[in-house]
Amino acid sequence: MPQARLIDGTSLARRTVEETAKKAADLTDRTGTTPCLATVLVGADPASVTYVRMKRNRCRQAGIESRHVELPATTTTGELVAALRALSDDPAVHGILLQHPMGGHIDERAAFEAIAPEKDVDGVTFASFATMSFGLPGFVSCTPGGIMRLLDAYDVDPSGKRAVVVGRSAILGKPVGMLLLGRDATVTYCHSRTRDLASAVREADIVVAAVGRPRLIRGEDIKPGAVVIDAGYNAGNVGDVDFDSAVERAGLITPVPGGVGPMTIAVLLEQTVDAAARQLGA
Ligand code: NAP
Repeated sequence: MPQARLIDGTSLARRTVEETAKKAADLTDRTGTTPCLATVLVGADPASVTYVRMKRNRCRQAGIESRHVELPATTTTGELVAALRALSDDPAVHGILLQHPMGGHIDERAAFEAIAPEKDVDGVTFASFATMSFGLPGFVSCTPGGIMRLLDAYDVDPSGKRAVVVGRSAILGKPVGMLLLGRDATVTYCHSRTRDLASAVREADIVVAAVGRPRLIRGEDIKPGAVVIDAGYNAGNVGDVDFDSAVERAGLITPVPGGVGPMTIAVLLEQTVDAAARQLGA
């Protein structure tokens, strides 16, 4: 049986971070200012603590300063908004990452909107979604941005292709569909109310799985030769696509782990350095 080519997100992320580190060093030399990402964590959810630590470590490796703001789980929306506004107003901070999900008592949308659009390097504000959807300069959601970089790196041109995005979350499914539409794909969104997911997937030249359900997408439903991007990450290092059966039919496929995951932080760092360059006028 033919085997799909693997999309190596780990290598592309490494190259992207190396290029970002060069840009950060050059910016620091030219302006005397080191790009700085503020990371904001509410509470101590173990997964969130790990993600923030990883992001800060990568910043260090890329020559980006990180300023960490840790707030107790009891923080109110008002207090969080005030902290984010202070970072938005601080000229020494160029990018802001608010780790989410936050506690259920926090109005996440109000918190995100307290991030100045020019510092929204995680692409979570209304302004970023709008600029991304209109194809205007701005910051994209990092995982969708990383997915588009993977497609480009493997010469997948979405133009005219049928793309099926499974999942419609604000940070992943919706924005990746908008980015694919912006590149002239014919985009179908599927979600928990979709009646016949399998028949939608069968039509797809590009499938993006962004659900959080282990092995939901089966290989038998993949169109032969299709590009399969699995953004899902479930317990046991399992994606949303049944990799073993999908690899037999796809033309290109992301492994889990080592596909989409590493690109998310790479895009975050790149956008932080871009934000700093814009704010420093350099
Ligand atoms: P989410 O907010 O929970 O959204 C899941 C989406 O999947 C929803 O739109 C939901 O539909 C849809 N869905 C649920 N069950 C479905 C089913 N049986 N058939 C079709 N659609 C279904 O999740 P998320 O934050 O987008 O994350 C999705 C996955 O990506 C997770 O595994 C997460 O860990 C992973 N992720 C990875 C990265 C990375 O860096 N690699 C970043 C973010 C997320 P409704 O809208 O109808 O509820």
